[in-house]
Amino acid sequence: MTIPTTQRGVPEAAREQMPGSSDTFFEMDQRKNALLATLAHELRNPLAPIKNGLQLLALMSLSEEAEVVRSMMVRQVEQIVHLVDDLLDVARIGSGKLALDKQICTISAVVKSAIEESAILISENQMTLELIDTSQAACVCGDLCRLTQIVCNLLNNSAKYGRSGGKILLELEVCDGSVIIRVKDDGIGIAADRLEDIFTMYSQIDSAHGRGLAGLGIGLALVRNLVELHGGLVEVESDGPERGSTFTVKLPLATGIVRENISSKETSNHSKRSFRVLVVDDMRAMRVVTEQLLQKLGHEVQIAENGEVALTKLDSFKPDVVFSDITMPVMSGHELARQVRNRTDLDSVCLVALTGYGQSSDRELAFEAGFDRHLTKPVSFQSILALFDELDRVKRDSLDGLALETGGFH
Ligand code: ADP
Repeated sequence: MTIPTTQRGVPEAAREQMPGSSDTFFEMDQRKNALLATLAHELRNPLAPIKNGLQLLALMSLSEEAEVVRSMMVRQVEQIVHLVDDLLDVARIGSGKLALDKQICTISAVVKSAIEESAILISENQMTLELIDTSQAACVCGDLCRLTQIVCNLLNNSAKYGRSGGKILLELEVCDGSVIIRVKDDGIGIAADRLEDIFTMYSQIDSAHGRGLAGLGIGLALVRNLVELHGGLVEVESDGPERGSTFTVKLPLATGIVRENISSKETSNHSKRSFRVLVVDDMRAMRVVTEQLLQKLGHEVQIAENGEVALTKLDSFKPDVVFSDITMPVMSGHELARQVRNRTDLDSVCLVALTGYGQSSDRELAFEAGFDRHLTKPVSFQSILALFDELDRVKRDSLDGLALETGGFH
């Protein structure tokens, strides 16, 4: 479902100050969004093999010393990935293209994955996190990744602007048809006259930077946009500098949902089944690292550098899954998908687009060409495991005779 956002990227006041030039200003703003999207995409490409390479190293037996270095690199790469993702979201919001993939999810599950993502930053700053969850199995209708991003941004800010050695309190409750998420820290606090500003794109408070805290000043603007897209609101309270801050997110409660409907992502045990996987990418580093990572997970893997080579391997290797890049010389991923979908003997092959282009229009183009799934680089280890879990479930169901008649993945 695509929900257009408001055009916050083009401040009305700025347009008014430039009489007769609002169109030019708008065009420049659109160009800036396009530049941000391209930049984020170009940064994602080299980040993907680096991230996969670090995951691969984790599966090898490293010395204690090497593991310390590897963990440090994982944290730094995660920070870059986070910044790149934020840049891309700014571009999406600016061009009104931010899409939500809504499902019913428990708020506890959202918060659990946000805590997992923020845990390293919190512990690096020697802070403790206390969770008080009285929400029971309360559900919201929303995009699991985006909801996680909201909570994660607030937790990361509390870790950044909280007191070193201090405490973060995360409270979940249900009140008057809303799910309330409250993130409270005992850190540097916010002056009363800056409380509203901080939700504006690129706004930062000088006192925070005096502490040498890097950032782009876009995290809270994204939080507010994402919360509003979910029909909710976000507020901040602080008794002033050095007196801590409390951020409160209110989201509409999804009612009448039974527990069985909740996403299987919350409950699955990871698959042990081995699949035949073909990896198609024109970037050698990406092919090699993905191949090795999948082999470590117990899958049989072959590689191809473009769609044409992939087609010949499809006949000889007969893969269950194809991970394919989109932009490649000789034959693109889209053309490969179209050719595969024209052949009935390849009906059961699961086609996964693995690409740096993550806009909703890119996903739609991939699905139109015949892909079953669309993953954006750099893909997390968790998404790869979740995909193989899903393939495993489909395979088991088809063996049990419960699958759809095609027995395929699409
Ligand atoms: P960034 O953290 O990248 O600067 P954000 O949009 O996340 O950008 O935050 C905007 C500003 O709001 C920060 O620069 C900081 O001054 C202030 N801020 C955010 N969270 C907190 C917090 N928990 N305590 C104090 N100040 C905060």
